[in-house]
Amino acid sequence: MSVALLWFRRDLRLHDNPALLAALAAHRQLVLVYIHDPDAEAPWQAGGASRWWLHHSLAALDKSLAQRGARLILRQGDSQSVLQALIKECGATHIYWNRLYEPACIQRDSAIKIALQAQGILVSSHNSALLFEPWQVVKPDSTPYRVFTPFWKTCQRLGLERQLQAAPGQIPSLDGPDSLPLEALQLQPRLAWADGFAHSWTPGEDGALQAMELFMDTALSHYAEGRDRPAQPGTARLSPHLHFGEISPARLVQAVMQTPLPSGHLADAETWLRELGWREFAHYLLYHFPETATQPFDPRFTDFRWEHDPQGLQAWQRGQTGFPIIDAGMRELWHTGWMHNRVRMIVASLLSKNLLIPWQAGAAWFWDTLLDADLAANTLGWQWTAGCGADAAPWFRIFNPVLQGQKFDPQGTYVRRWVPELAALPNKHLHQPWRLSAAELATYGLKLGEDYPSPIVDLSASRQRALARFDAIKQGTKSI
Ligand SMILES: Cc1cc2nc3c(=O)[nH]c(=O)nc-3n(C[C@H](O)[C@H](O)[C@H](O)COP(=O)(O)OP(=O)(O)OC[C@H]3O[C@@H](n4cnc5c(N)ncnc54)[C@H](O)[C@@H]3O)c2cc1C
Repeated sequence: MSVALLWFRRDLRLHDNPALLAALAAHRQLVLVYIHDPDAEAPWQAGGASRWWLHHSLAALDKSLAQRGARLILRQGDSQSVLQALIKECGATHIYWNRLYEPACIQRDSAIKIALQAQGILVSSHNSALLFEPWQVVKPDSTPYRVFTPFWKTCQRLGLERQLQAAPGQIPSLDGPDSLPLEALQLQPRLAWADGFAHSWTPGEDGALQAMELFMDTALSHYAEGRDRPAQPGTARLSPHLHFGEISPARLVQAVMQTPLPSGHLADAETWLRELGWREFAHYLLYHFPETATQPFDPRFTDFRWEHDPQGLQAWQRGQTGFPIIDAGMRELWHTGWMHNRVRMIVASLLSKNLLIPWQAGAAWFWDTLLDADLAANTLGWQWTAGCGADAAPWFRIFNPVLQGQKFDPQGTYVRRWVPELAALPNKHLHQPWRLSAAELATYGLKLGEDYPSPIVDLSASRQRALARFDAIKQGTKSI
């Protein structure tokens, strides 16, 4: 019954935390540490919004640990050196952690494991982030799946439910080692930009459990329809909590199974579980095809002719494209650190197809501004929309932002919330204000090009240009 280190990473919770519970079962005292080591995840160091979340999530974890008589030790620097120093300081014989699956993390953790084992330290790693280990789910010929539906069917056949573990009561932790103050990690953005995030979110395990309960009680029963309405709270808003491991997918599966649904609504639960399946598939793909964080999954896109269009990119980033649903989404992202999934697809399609700006540029902006920025899910979302991903939207599917707006925001509630300069327009014209004459616009107090931009691209011509370019790679001729 010796001292053990518990290395927290993206598993910032006490319930259903296998590494923590295994360490507690075998050791007299624990040293609980979080190490801020941004260089280890290069080039995918957490972006600005993500760091804001991490700051508050660590504060919440520290508070929960204190309620159990334990303390969180914060350190900064190269993970291996910090762990070695800490092991020496406290005489630990074992280290426990929950696995991460991004390529840079696997590389770092493997090296640390080898080095510590060579020093006689016992390393114990666990799965807290996924329903299945990525190597567990394979095709009959033992190769990885590239298509979602058969992947998910195999997961379902293997069984989604797990035995969950409750949060421990008291956690005996060693008093000795010093901790940095949270502020020393400098995670909070210097800009006032992030001030609004706190109005929309409660980072930490309690916030995650509350979000889960709210969703199960209010939105799960009509998720299949509600999930496509960006104006309504029809989705769970759990993605940042899941990214930081404040809640496990296994806990969410259990919650779905235990939520009584009115008859005829089982499909809603299945649809939502399928979304957890897409999360699982995203991690699975990145594990098996690590190069896809930057390279197209479909090799035909390797030499695709993208446009260099810094002005277009900037207009898109700022929510000044002249397409109301796009601008609403990009402003929602900037102000709240999150964007509705339907709108993510529409904005990604405009960038990668109508503007032909490389999907990687959009992914990089999302990486910095999303609270749920996640290498696996972001890569999958962008490659899917751009048409070059595994099981992607076909290259010829180009979302029309006007039709999408009319269909999924028919009352214009979402657009009016985020693009208030258009608020006076009637629903009929809200998603395409450029169709009105200058005189008509004036009756609503609006001058296009001054109060709100004219569209930065012609939807029809840009669609034809994209189709021709996609057609060229299909035919194997690149120059169009
Ligand atoms: C271009 C683009 C980029 C994206 N980038 C990210 C990202 O960086 N991080 C991220 O977590 N999600 C990303 N997504 C997926 C999706 O938009 C978010 O997971 C979802 O909007 C989160 O909201 P929610 O928790 O209310 O989801 P719900 O609809 O309630 O779904 C429940 C959970 O399922 C998972 N999920 C849902 N849809 C997807 C999906 N398409 N792919 C993978 N997992 C999914 C999420 O973990 C989510 O929390 C991206 C999608 C697109 C189109």
